[in-house]
Amino acid sequence: MKVYFDNAATTPLDPAVFEAMKPLMLDLYGNPSSIHSHGREVRSSIERSRKKVADLLNTSPSEIFFTSGGTEADNTALCSTIDSYGIKNVISSKVEHHAVLHTLENLEKTGRIKLHFVALNDNGEVEMDHLEQLLIQHPKCLVSLMHANNEIANIIDLNALGELCEAHEAKLHSDTVQTMGHFTHDLQQIKAHCIVGSAHKFHGPKGIGFLYVRHDHKINPFIYGGAQERNMRGGTENVYGIVGLAKALELAYEGMSEHARHIKSLKGIMIKRLKESIPDVHFNGLSDDIENSLYTVLNVCLPPSGDNDMLLFNLDISGISVSGGSACSSGSNIGSHVLAELKRDSSRGAVRFSFSKYNTEEEVEYAVRKLAELTTASVS
Ligand code: PLP
Repeated sequence: MKVYFDNAATTPLDPAVFEAMKPLMLDLYGNPSSIHSHGREVRSSIERSRKKVADLLNTSPSEIFFTSGGTEADNTALCSTIDSYGIKNVISSKVEHHAVLHTLENLEKTGRIKLHFVALNDNGEVEMDHLEQLLIQHPKCLVSLMHANNEIANIIDLNALGELCEAHEAKLHSDTVQTMGHFTHDLQQIKAHCIVGSAHKFHGPKGIGFLYVRHDHKINPFIYGGAQERNMRGGTENVYGIVGLAKALELAYEGMSEHARHIKSLKGIMIKRLKESIPDVHFNGLSDDIENSLYTVLNVCLPPSGDNDMLLFNLDISGISVSGGSACSSGSNIGSHVLAELKRDSSRGAVRFSFSKYNTEEEVEYAVRKLAELTTASVS
């Protein structure tokens, strides 16, 4: 049996998204910047897609900019905000995705900003009192805090965060890559200056994302070149990606409550079955709090054992694709910077299961059975 439980890394393309992209790959090949009819047809596909995304997020198309993905959108939000507003102080956390963390660390290394890390509790949650103290010390700074953590599933209250930042005249960027398409984002309510999305996290194609920039947040371009994306991002648009992203987000919104119910039920079954079959199993972060976490992610903390590093390999041999591990983040052999921030026993292995609408109860049962076999074998 082959089972895919790595949907926080990427999700399978929805066939309906592929169908929507096909005409742009074959028939509609004009350059959207060309003024002839071949170009104009493609331009209108882009603008229809932009309107669709904006409508779903309850905002205006003029605030949506297509990018090559979440990483570029995060880089643009951070670098262009810092550049355009002459920002010197940035508040963030040590559990951000590397798209944010490495960008900010590089800006600090090159002397552009001073980076301040907000304190986290033992579960990796942001200490809001400390955030407020930092904001009092550094008003009018930039705050970058992710909506949901891709490894441990912790969620921050974006509305409360936006209010707090506004009270201190701080700019707010939130990496919403993991929640986009899985939760609703009402941009009339959320007081963020920039949020982002990446299509391949919600059954869209890879290599396409978007950046939302609030109308009153005026930033310089990040990529200079042609006049594409209203002069904000030079380069011929990834037209089929854009159409695929909009279709994927539309489908995600249409099926959101049904998919959320399905995935939460799978996660609940997995938690229950793991507790029954693996003694002393725990869960990292708040990932086992089904209603108050990123419901697509469960980070399992296994009993101490010398053999945990082999676990992902052995799960893979059993046909189960996951990420995590005692000292590894997805696909790499460097330790997880997120797990390193949690107060946990480092001899315990960690496996991140991440679910999608396509997973089944049978797959959950199979994965739990295999994980229990492997864990019991390595502990005994
Ligand atoms: N931010 C978060 C929280 C992510 O999980 C990811 C993807 O792993 C990214 C940013 C980067 O997105 P992309 O792969 O579209 O560059």
